[in-house]
Amino acid sequence: MLTSAEIRKQFLDFFQSKGHHIVPSAPIVVKNDPTLLFTNAGMNQFKDYFLGNKKAPYTRVADTQKCLRVSGKHNDLEEVGVDTYHHTMFEMLGNWSFGDYFKAEAIAWSWELLTEVYKLDKDRLYVTIFEGDVKENLPKDEEAYNEWKKVIAEDRILLGNKKDNFWEMGDTGPCGPCTEIHVDCRTDEERKAVDGKTLVNNDHPQVIEIWNNVFIQFNRLKDGSLEPLPAKHVDTGMGFERLVRVIQNNTSNYDTDVFTGTIAATENIVGKKYNATAINSPSTGGSWREAVAFRVIADHIRAISFTIADGQLPSNTGAGYVIRRILRRAVRYYYSYLDYKQPLLHQLLPVIAKQFANVFPELEQQLDFVSKVVKEEEDAFLKTLGKGITKFNSYINFREQFPEATHAYNEELGDEFPYDIQEGKKVIVNPQSLEVTQKTIPGKFAFELTDTYGFPIDLTELMAKEIGWKVDVKEFEKELAKQKSRSRAATAIDTEDWIVLDEYALNEFVGYDSMEIQTKVTKYRKV
Ligand code: ATP
Ligand code: MG
Ligand code: MG
Ligand code: MG
Repeated sequence: MLTSAEIRKQFLDFFQSKGHHIVPSAPIVVKNDPTLLFTNAGMNQFKDYFLGNKKAPYTRVADTQKCLRVSGKHNDLEEVGVDTYHHTMFEMLGNWSFGDYFKAEAIAWSWELLTEVYKLDKDRLYVTIFEGDVKENLPKDEEAYNEWKKVIAEDRILLGNKKDNFWEMGDTGPCGPCTEIHVDCRTDEERKAVDGKTLVNNDHPQVIEIWNNVFIQFNRLKDGSLEPLPAKHVDTGMGFERLVRVIQNNTSNYDTDVFTGTIAATENIVGKKYNATAINSPSTGGSWREAVAFRVIADHIRAISFTIADGQLPSNTGAGYVIRRILRRAVRYYYSYLDYKQPLLHQLLPVIAKQFANVFPELEQQLDFVSKVVKEEEDAFLKTLGKGITKFNSYINFREQFPEATHAYNEELGDEFPYDIQEGKKVIVNPQSLEVTQKTIPGKFAFELTDTYGFPIDLTELMAKEIGWKVDVKEFEKELAKQKSRSRAATAIDTEDWIVLDEYALNEFVGYDSMEIQTKVTKYRKV
């Protein structure tokens, strides 16, 4: 069986043999781009070539790009660990043509690579092309259809709408149709049961999109009309972990050698076994949650470690807070579902660093630094997590005990708490606040969890969701804004959360200024 390293290499070798120049992945953290915090697609680093701001040094390139989809336009966080193929961080394999080849070559090569090099079962592949959109004045992609017809039966070419099959950078600018390749990994029995009917992804958890080929051929003008671009481009992206899953014949990305090392290490540390069959079945309760926890940890630790290795420290603002949120989410999963109360994530780093040493050496080169940062983060959050969970649970218990007290803020607090317990009986003391907001956690309480226990709002939301509750996020945001204006008044000094690493690993980590979660500032010096 091909290993993931071989699969990656074969992709790059294949496109090199077709005249592509192999380039390194851009950092996962994007600097100096107000529209983007993290690289979320392979094309990000080539944006200027498509916009015509810069001339590409090579007209054909290919690479594997570290991507992160946890914020902004692409946010897959909620799916991660629950399904088996959306990750926070993933590798996007890609090939590009900047004004060079176009649809015929791109489509023929995709097919050749998948069926002749990787030898995927042709009977399980199908594709989508853009159906056109009259209202938007966008033509059907006949050209792509005709190219696909040469290699695949027509009933395996499905039409897709603008949402899935037309790519635009913004309201104006370069744009064009795309064609996606999907793999049907259902069992033969499952397929027979629906007469082998072709499904698009989302219809079935075992039918997944693996590759997207975008054909940038138009320029959208301010008045909405399209003009053909003088130079046409190809921009493709294939999910590496999904490809490996399909080639290695697995039903989950987590069963591939991309993740099994991390999962095995986690099993050893926590003394529990990962149940790989517990997928898509929340009804299995405890064991399902435990399996989700294993997957979340295996996923999140990669995102955290590679982002830190690329220079983004966890912090309380911007991109740094995104990383802190992911890290705390992972901590909460092992704490609650694997019953492990010590820092765990940093122990997994050597496994990941070693595994990726040949592709992304930046992690191995900075292993000590990244481990220290991750461990400090885990230590700090573990100090308050248990207390926060207890607080959360007692709040929910209270609300369940007194369902009428729907807007109660907390036990000690009088202002929003409408009841008083006198001699074992509840007495209404504040009838105005009996607003009915069943199973909703007030924003004020969510804010207390953030402020005192360091719970990111999405963690509180996740915990609420797990028991069928919601959070009043609007009210939470109001509270947060109030606090921000208070602290802005208190200090005008902003702390930077970005450090520039010269060619990686040139900074020696010398510890934190303060361990308070809210004010942690990392010190480092150039060596
Ligand atoms: P999906 O519909 O599965 O969310 P997408 O259409 O959002 O995927 P694209 O933006 O077309 O994805 O990205 C190109 C390829 O990158 C996809 O075909 C898929 O193989 C892979 N990919 C996208 N998002 C993820 C993710 N969160 N984790 C792993 N691979 C991903
Ligand atoms: Mg998506
Ligand atoms: Mg899609
Ligand atoms: Mg897609």
